[in-house]
Amino acid sequence: MRLLTFENAAGGARFGVEIEGGVLDVGLADPSLPDDLMAFLALPDADKAKLAAVASLAPSTALVPSGVRRLPPVPRPGKILCVGVNYRAHAGEMNAQAPVAPEVFAKFANTLVGDGADVILPHQSQAFDYEAELALVIGRRARHVPKASALAHVAGYMAFNDLTIRDVQMRTMQWTLGKNFDTHGPCGPNLVTADEVGDPQSLDIRLTVDGEVLQASNTSRMIFDCADLVSLISQIMTLEPGDIIATGTPGGVGAARRPPRWLKPGEVVRVEVDRVGVLTNTVRAEPLTRDAEPRSKTGHHDQAATVAGVGR
Ligand code: MN
Repeated sequence: MRLLTFENAAGGARFGVEIEGGVLDVGLADPSLPDDLMAFLALPDADKAKLAAVASLAPSTALVPSGVRRLPPVPRPGKILCVGVNYRAHAGEMNAQAPVAPEVFAKFANTLVGDGADVILPHQSQAFDYEAELALVIGRRARHVPKASALAHVAGYMAFNDLTIRDVQMRTMQWTLGKNFDTHGPCGPNLVTADEVGDPQSLDIRLTVDGEVLQASNTSRMIFDCADLVSLISQIMTLEPGDIIATGTPGGVGAARRPPRWLKPGEVVRVEVDRVGVLTNTVRAEPLTRDAEPRSKTGHHDQAATVAGVGR
């Protein structure tokens, strides 16, 4: 099944499932099921199994058009763990050694946006880079799980773009700031359940900007595969339903090109993963918001200072 979180007419976030003819609002279709995707993932397997029957009944009163606005499938995950340099081609182009253990860093929920959302080029840098990735979402608590059973803890998969401000990332030893600008973790459009994806290590993965192919690889080329990652990380911490692991990007990122190929306002970025979906986002320049304006001593906004004080 293809699960999603969407915005309803009242502006609320709703848990949905793609069906023939549109999106089914799960909580409306069957009030005994949660109206929140993360709450659904935390249900026992027997309760999750009810969703297929609800989707096949598909009461028309709970159907919304498929053009509905997509939010991140898991809007408030407890963790977003990302794996750096997990494809040899990307390690090579970044002059990094192939890692002997996964290079894990964190993103936060402020980065998450859904399919169709704008992603923001911030004021302080032009070095805006893309990273097409397959992300997995945990569906069953995992602690000290062996590799052989690790994938049984995965609910499903999403396309993910690990957007990065390269100069901020590389300014210090810690990648956290350069990886965590607002909107820099687009994902979706759906969380595709593991049974529908099958082997996660056999998926073509591509990234295009305005139609030009800039990354093209296959998830078979990961250094640490999805089962390795769930097993290895579960030796350190408990993975909970809704937790996201972004599994690394193949070669072809903008920073490795000569000259570097940075994302610019108006460009349309697409991450395409076989059987998982196509994630489309448009680059926008950060607007000059009132929040960014300096305030005068009287507490009123000082327009002249604003114009003079904000620049690239
Ligand atoms: Mn990455």
